[in-house]
Amino acid sequence: LNAPHGSPSDERDSAAAKGADVAVIGAGVVGLACARELARRGLKVVVLERGEAGRGASFGNAGWLTPSLAFPLAQPGYAKKAIGWMIDPESPFYIRPSLEPAMLHWLAVFLMASRRSRFRVNAPALVELCRWSVDAWETIAREPGPDFGFAREGLVMVLESEHGVERAKRGAEYTQALGIPWEWWDAQRVRAEEPIVRGDIRGAIYYPRDAHCVPNLAVQRLRADAEALGVRVIEQCAVTGASFDGRSVRALHTERGEVRAGRYVLAAGYWSGELGRALGLRIPMRAAKGYSLQFVRGAVHPTRSISLGERKVTVTPHAGRLRLAGTLEIVGNDQSINMRRVGAIERGARALLTLPDERAEATPWAGLRPCLADGMPAIGPSPRHGNMWLAIGHQMTGLKCAPGTARLLAELMAGEKPTFDPRPFAPERCCR
Ligand SMILES: Cc1cc2nc3c(=O)[nH]c(=O)nc-3n(C[C@H](O)[C@H](O)[C@H](O)COP(=O)(O)OP(=O)(O)OC[C@H]3O[C@@H](n4cnc5c(N)ncnc54)[C@H](O)[C@@H]3O)c2cc1C
Repeated sequence: LNAPHGSPSDERDSAAAKGADVAVIGAGVVGLACARELARRGLKVVVLERGEAGRGASFGNAGWLTPSLAFPLAQPGYAKKAIGWMIDPESPFYIRPSLEPAMLHWLAVFLMASRRSRFRVNAPALVELCRWSVDAWETIAREPGPDFGFAREGLVMVLESEHGVERAKRGAEYTQALGIPWEWWDAQRVRAEEPIVRGDIRGAIYYPRDAHCVPNLAVQRLRADAEALGVRVIEQCAVTGASFDGRSVRALHTERGEVRAGRYVLAAGYWSGELGRALGLRIPMRAAKGYSLQFVRGAVHPTRSISLGERKVTVTPHAGRLRLAGTLEIVGNDQSINMRRVGAIERGARALLTLPDERAEATPWAGLRPCLADGMPAIGPSPRHGNMWLAIGHQMTGLKCAPGTARLLAELMAGEKPTFDPRPFAPERCCR
């Protein structure tokens, strides 16, 4: 490999890129989790990252590790609501209207996948992947290594209307049947447990087994673990295409030269869509843009994560900061910040919480959640290639499902009996 512009040549990058068993494309939470898992199994792994590791969607997300809310993006009832979302500039879920054929195709598949019959198959698979993953995150947190603020304190979903309570209780009963416990807290109990909550509320659903962490630190932790196992993460090394031997990838083309490995894993988040085209694979990918903003720790700081369920705002307590996140705006490659939507997140939170005044960072953060048309991740072999594998499309669940994704992928690559039913995640259902 050549040196990136302006940096001294790094012999170790070149050595790592030669003769790797697996080259992973993308150093987000998913790519690094896969690299770590494959290295644990004794494989020589290199990760190719076009920028800095962990700076994609994995950087500033809400940090929730919540099996109680690990659903496919496409959900029953969404078909009816989609038009309303297109015209409301402050709605938490926004579909930007477009007549682009790829977008129309994406939307048609998305609406079909929001049927109850599909949800009944997809939701339990994703909840199970997440449940396993959160236990795995807990194990990682207990092992020696850099701290990433893991806390299994649960999630409080605050509700304001009778209708909201009914819907949330139906959701809680549904996930309870999948092994996720919950309790009902009345308004008085909510205020006693989390004094930051104020305003006119009906009560809350408390999910005691949910957890949270600091997302960028979790990515750094995976990287540290992976590197300790011999993985080389090569940054400033964008993959631009590939050359092939029949159905197999012979080499990846990168900005810095060719990389040859025995097998390849595509884990480039939202950008897997455009990179897929260069690799000969059609991937129906859109981004669901979201924002987060951080405040300095105030006098009243919550212990648990808080969901303002009807406002679709998430609140995560870190040691010295409080993070708000929200909005799901279906777009292309657009990381611009819409201050109107960011303002709606903050106003929504201030209506129900005693928020600190001081922001910890001047600018909000925007991230692109990678969303396949049916709202489920794709984990498994590429339908077009003999030696390429996919770990993409994790939409709202990439952090909370990363260890399970890595486990499933590594088991499938090794031809082992997988821990999870791979069928709901099979790439062939949506990628051609
Ligand atoms: C506001 C917000 C809140 C969220 N909250 C949560 C949450 O609480 N819990 C949760 O589980 N999930 C949450 N998510 C979703 C989560 O952030 C994503 O699902 C997850 O980060 C996706 O990880 P990834 O590794 O697939 O993608 P990314 O983190 O985007 O990583 C992809 C990487 O690939 C690299 N790349 C791209 N193209 C190339 C190329 N050509 N060559 C080499 N490298 C390339 C990119 O630079 C990037 O580093 C949230 C997202 C947002 C936006």
